[in-house]
Amino acid sequence: MSHTNTMTLTSHAMPRDARIFVAGHRGMVGSAIVRKLASEGYANLLLRNSAKLDLRNQSNVESFFAEEKPEYVFLAAARVGGIIANSTRKGEFLYDNLMIQTNVIHNAYTCGVKRLLFLGSTCIYPKLSPQPIKEEYLLTGTLEPTNDAYAIAKIAGIAQCRSYNDQYGTRFLSAMPNNLYGPNDNFDLTSSHVLPALIRKFHEAKVAGAATVTVWGTGSPLREFMHVDDLAEASLFLMNLPEDSYTALLACQAAPALINVGSGEEISIADLARTIKDIADFSGELVFDTSKPDGTPRKLADSSRMRELGWRHRTDLRDGLRDAYRWYVENSCNQIKLGNNL
Ligand code: GDP
Repeated sequence: MSHTNTMTLTSHAMPRDARIFVAGHRGMVGSAIVRKLASEGYANLLLRNSAKLDLRNQSNVESFFAEEKPEYVFLAAARVGGIIANSTRKGEFLYDNLMIQTNVIHNAYTCGVKRLLFLGSTCIYPKLSPQPIKEEYLLTGTLEPTNDAYAIAKIAGIAQCRSYNDQYGTRFLSAMPNNLYGPNDNFDLTSSHVLPALIRKFHEAKVAGAATVTVWGTGSPLREFMHVDDLAEASLFLMNLPEDSYTALLACQAAPALINVGSGEEISIADLARTIKDIADFSGELVFDTSKPDGTPRKLADSSRMRELGWRHRTDLRDGLRDAYRWYVENSCNQIKLGNNL
């Protein structure tokens, strides 16, 4: 936890009474954005859970936009999940994401939304991208097969934002964070990502006095992790960028309307497991189950464009892991939920 982000709110910033739709506000990312908006004094947030507004339903989304007339949209609603959910439920990952984003982005255009931030993940980039991954590597190679359905849906969303910007003059931006973690993460072991899964496994093993904890794969893949509160801060930072910087991002020739948001904090899965073992104070052994997939060997985002704009993440990985572990222990009774933030 170090520095101060240099961005100050200018006249281009969202007014405090702006009508802001946070799609997916109950998920890890959406809830972090809501916390950040609330802490900054934004009081006119439009929030609907999936029982009230199914974003996959075209006419429901159309009515919602026509009635509520949002001015800004954070599109954090998505079908998300870890390596097994992504590779075994591809139909859901493709359909749900395509429907949600198509409806929300299209209605944001028809209702004249001023700015929209579409959130995805760095798994949209080719499996064997040069590292660190620059935005312009999009669509330059074959995708990682364990998450290609999710990635193709998200790439379609990026293309939709770009196409609408080109054809209709909208100001929609896509931001691709790395692997996120934090409060309201999904701790369901069949659908979660590695970090919450390991927090849960080590905690439960310690409580049960188990001798071992199983880590999937070889432990050698490298992943870049970031606390979700840092992404929330980055999301507001982007939404409030002065017009000239925002326009430059949308018009960037190499990769229009697309920006990576990462921490640069890269660690192997084996080292991540050892760190969480330490934090959870588990004294047993690690076992690597190599029948489970490793996925892509490495995905480190090049976030230099964010840094050039004046943004850096704040939370170092060890501090963030301690915070996430504490949150899990305090909330574990009611945190066994499905892997989505619709
Ligand atoms: P990915 O970043 O899209 O590959 O998704 P994950 O976060 O699910 O997996 C990252 C890496 O962690 C993969 O190499 C997994 O095999 C590995 N991993 C180790 N243990 C676990 C676990 O308990 N759950 C998950 N989801 N992944 C694990």
